[in-house]
Amino acid sequence: MSHTQVSESNGEWRQMEREFADRTLKCSDCGNDFVWTAGEQAFFYDKHLQNEPKRCKPCKQAKNERLAAITAAQTSGIRQRIEVSVQCARCGQQTTVPFYPSQGRPVFCRSCFLAGRAANDADAEQH
Ligand SMILES: [Zn+2]
Ligand SMILES: [Zn+2]
Repeated sequence: MSHTQVSESNGEWRQMEREFADRTLKCSDCGNDFVWTAGEQAFFYDKHLQNEPKRCKPCKQAKNERLAAITAAQTSGIRQRIEVSVQCARCGQQTTVPFYPSQGRPVFCRSCFLAGRAANDADAEQH
């Protein structure tokens, strides 16, 4: 009287059984969760890479751009005019700033930066 109704899948195991599942990692730069996809993991193990990704895609790209700009500046000896793509901490808009933002420090687009400064000035005067 045992109802063993385990539905077997007709022994039809798929050949392309996934070895990897998407994993959620935390970005060391912005602290946001990002997905390390199964495909990327497969690539990772295929190449016998050691260090798991620490940064989300935008941060990784930003870091690469930063390094490339620094390398370019060093090799050319000329301080290049830089433009770093960032997300404004206030309005969330994608913007570019002419400097390399420090880690963990909020970056504002031009109008928010000016608005924030104006607000601070106003505060200072009122108090
Ligand atoms: Zn990030
Ligand atoms: Zn803004």
